[in-house]
Amino acid sequence: MNSAVSGGQSLDPDDWETFRAEAHGALDLMIEHLRTIREGPVWQPPSEQALGASRAPLPRAGKGLAATLEAFRNDVLPYATGNLHPRFMGWIHGAGTPVGMVAEMLAAGLNANCGGRHHIGIEIERQVTRWMAELFCFPEDASGLFVTGTSMANFLAVLIAREKALGPSARATGIESSSLTGYTSDQAHGCIKRAFEMAGLGANQLRRIASDEAGRIDPRALEEALEADRAAGCQPFLIVGTAGSVDIGAVDPLNQLADICARERVWFHVDGAFGALAQLSPELRPMLVGIERADSLAFDFHKWLHLPYDAGFLLCRDRTAHRAAFADRAPYLSRAPRGLAQGEDWPTDFGPDLSRGFRALKAWMAFNVYGADRLGETIERSCALARFLVARIEASPVFELKAPRALNIVCFGLPGSDGAVESEIVMDLQESGIAAPSTTRINGCTVIRCAIVNHRTTEEDLEIVVAAAEALATQDSSRFKREDLVPVEK
Ligand SMILES: *Cc1c(COP(=O)(O)O)cnc(C)c1O
Repeated sequence: MNSAVSGGQSLDPDDWETFRAEAHGALDLMIEHLRTIREGPVWQPPSEQALGASRAPLPRAGKGLAATLEAFRNDVLPYATGNLHPRFMGWIHGAGTPVGMVAEMLAAGLNANCGGRHHIGIEIERQVTRWMAELFCFPEDASGLFVTGTSMANFLAVLIAREKALGPSARATGIESSSLTGYTSDQAHGCIKRAFEMAGLGANQLRRIASDEAGRIDPRALEEALEADRAAGCQPFLIVGTAGSVDIGAVDPLNQLADICARERVWFHVDGAFGALAQLSPELRPMLVGIERADSLAFDFHKWLHLPYDAGFLLCRDRTAHRAAFADRAPYLSRAPRGLAQGEDWPTDFGPDLSRGFRALKAWMAFNVYGADRLGETIERSCALARFLVARIEASPVFELKAPRALNIVCFGLPGSDGAVESEIVMDLQESGIAAPSTTRINGCTVIRCAIVNHRTTEEDLEIVVAAAEALATQDSSRFKREDLVPVEK
């Protein structure tokens, strides 16, 4: 076996120099992949060979690093999601950065367990929390926690609000049947409903309030629903506003929601999964006014900030309330006055996880390398590109806009269509490797949805996507050649 990692007692390499060369090769492979990402297809399904390899049984004997890297290069690397590519516009996916890749390597090298204890990983997570408190004008001692994603952060927020409403006894007794009611718009992400299910409250306890034609919650309808529930003996405890709805990027009137929450004494949570970080842009920031009044805020660093997956975050105004929902002191987690076990608040006191990776490092890296302003500019640029796309669709002889653009999301389709053609166009575009928009349903019809998140996307990319979609819609296959549409530039 001619490889660095072989059969000694320890899992370290027998020969560090061979390992060094192989590891440098892996880094070079990925640097080249990122450098030339534009030249390949956006996406391609895993090959038969790759699928076959993915079904191989558990290897009893290892084949070493070099052979495994070769398998990665052939059977894994070419078949990823596609979200690195500038013409990936589906759903809301971050594009990653070369710096993020390096950050993950450094974090993996340290292999810190950030559940607690006295080490620098905890301090870096606290630092990022303070940065976020500063960005969103939260109190300096606000609590924060990295989690997998906003689905999880929203779930934790529901648990904190539940704890706040029911008091500590509910943690012991559980919830038999609850009169607690929560409120969000009919545009809210599905994970809010799931959070209600998982929190034992029941999805029926979440009221889905009508939104206006721009996709924002209707505060009048919200107040009426609250009033009706109170009259019926329910106990409203939570309003979830959305900053950047998943379908069209709509931002709820957060200031009005904050007023209602203050008056009604209910917890104000904001799902800002991708939209909240528009706060980094002076131009976009006014759209989010009121976000600074939230009791808790969930967002993702892995979407518009392009940190490698996964990097969700929860920011909570009142750290005592946050802690009360989770903290528990098992003897093996006792705190010591000195040494490694010192420190009062550990991340495990603020969420369900004990062992946790060093997610904070990649955020720390991104802010240190690029600076908050530059990251804000890339977010601004996505919105400018979305405006460009809107103009291109408005000028299109084939398509029309299907929803107003709020931030970076543009939905379009054929006039009078029920959406069947649009579904076909999107699947064709994805399978051609030219582009990867996704679909959503607006007013009951499927539409083509382009979410411009990727920092690599240009006006030319958008032109290619629309031209290809137009060609598909009009079945003008002469205009639809991959060779023509995918510019090769070295
Ligand atoms: C993406 C998204 C979520 C879910 O976040 P994950 O990180 O995928 O768990 C929730 N809400 C909105 C508005 C989103 O865009």
